[in-house]
Amino acid sequence: MAEVNGQPLKLAGKISIITGGASGIGEATARLFATHGAFVVVADIQDEGHQVATSIGSNRCTYFHCDVTDERQVISVVDFTVETYGHLDIMFSNAGIVSTSVQTILDLDLTQFDALIAVIARGSAACVKRRVRGCIICTASVAGSRGGSVRTDYVMAKHAVVGLVRSASKQLGVHGIRVNCVSPSAVATPLSKRSPERARKTMKLYESLSSLKGVELGVADVAEAVVFLASDGSAFITGHDLAVDGGLTKLPDADDLVAYNS
Ligand code: NAD
Repeated sequence: MAEVNGQPLKLAGKISIITGGASGIGEATARLFATHGAFVVVADIQDEGHQVATSIGSNRCTYFHCDVTDERQVISVVDFTVETYGHLDIMFSNAGIVSTSVQTILDLDLTQFDALIAVIARGSAACVKRRVRGCIICTASVAGSRGGSVRTDYVMAKHAVVGLVRSASKQLGVHGIRVNCVSPSAVATPLSKRSPERARKTMKLYESLSSLKGVELGVADVAEAVVFLASDGSAFITGHDLAVDGGLTKLPDADDLVAYNS
């Protein structure tokens, strides 16, 4: 049997789509999926996804331009995948953005609000809706289970993703489809558009709030959690929100996580 690091491949021959796969968590997951024997379609609006696919290898990974806010484009990437590979086993709905302003409820910019909800909440629903078999994983966030003193739109959108996963898991279980999500705390990616110095400060703050000390969350840690939820190792797990946060959301003083994520 083929192996990676002395362990059997967890996704041998599986066909997957990863939205937001051109960068950050999505890119790391695309690489790990391929390492575990999956075929990956990177679906993104950033055409740097071409380079990601090329570096993974054209026999394992393809880039497909897809804006998840447009349901027709989500249908197109699923159709492309099924036509190319015969079927689809894993949908990883991961694309996300943040607003450029602080977005407290009092100064909520509703144009930015609409744009963010369109990608995270509506886009995830469009991806989950298109699944035909196998399993679905969404990227939620620690912001999906707590309020925040800033980023109201992001907190709302991530709560919606958790609600989507809970509802879809109930509705799709009858078809043998599992639906779960991962909820990372802060991880350094281009998403937040923070300066390196500010990103370091944020990571330090999150570490101080977490149970685990001396370790920082990296994209590879999130990717490992997604591989687990995509693999047969989680065959009886559905409707689950898997926190990848060093115990952050388990601590009583972590009520306002999103305050630190600005
Ligand atoms: P990232 O910016 O590196 O990746 C996000 C990707 O989504 C980008 O490649 C971007 O082009 C793509 N994208 C944006 N709008 C899209 C659209 N309309 N259609 C298709 N693709 C689109 O950021 P990341 O941190 O890797 O974010 C991935 C997911 O993780 C997001 O859902 C984000 O909310 C979530 N998340 C991130 C953190 C963090 O601290 N970085 C924490 C918790 C959750």
